[in-house]
Amino acid sequence: MRKPIIAGNWKMFKTGKEVANFIKATSTKVPTNGAESVICVPAVYLEQAQKLVAGTNLVVAAQNMHFEEAGAFTGEISPVMLADLKIKYVVLGHSERRAMFNETDQTVNLKAHAAFKHGILPIICVGESLEERETNVTNQIVGAQTMRALAGLAEADLMQTVIAYEPIWAIGTGKTATSDQAQETIKGIRATIEAEYGSVVAEAVRIQYGGSVKPENVAELLGKADIDGALVGGAALEAESFLGLFNF
Ligand code: 13P
Repeated sequence: MRKPIIAGNWKMFKTGKEVANFIKATSTKVPTNGAESVICVPAVYLEQAQKLVAGTNLVVAAQNMHFEEAGAFTGEISPVMLADLKIKYVVLGHSERRAMFNETDQTVNLKAHAAFKHGILPIICVGESLEERETNVTNQIVGAQTMRALAGLAEADLMQTVIAYEPIWAIGTGKTATSDQAQETIKGIRATIEAEYGSVVAEAVRIQYGGSVKPENVAELLGKADIDGALVGGAALEAESFLGLFNF
């Protein structure tokens, strides 16, 4: 049985005070069993957030990292630094990073290897554009993205990887993929993983849906057999709305 994972991706939002207020309002209220509850915090607040969630069921994740351990990479954050803060998850290859910061399947793959080397679990984002969906190449596109991101990982690491299927056209637009569209694409990703790595790995990998998820539609999406959680932007910014994402 795969444990559902609900992750709020705050992107470039919140001040330190807002981070503290959010954690105060949610950390004792997130469910104690069932789903894993994660907040993906801007890098400057990771240490603060990590201290504030101690002893609660809220888990802190980073939104990105470099694949090198150290070096002349101004502005970057290394896996060693995240491991130093005992960060459990890191989001890799979000479509915003692919579109605006030159993230590629190859760098995502390097980062996934680096994450596991330092005991950090990657949440790897994949997703198609509207044009790709309309030309019926969604399954090939997201399948290929997934395979390139996972290439060369050990079986034990593959089984702990989280994939986030986020159709680009559904992010921040209010347009959610229908639960059937999300299920079908995620089932396809799982089938692609199974074809390459076998059923034990495919059944273990958790695959989230992301793109305009909110308290009102989370139950329908998570009711689908292959959808193991959600990666949520806008609706995860306020405490009440975030807590509403666990009503499924
Ligand atoms: P929205 O939930 O705001 O559509 O954002 C989705 C997302 O990009 C999460 O990573």
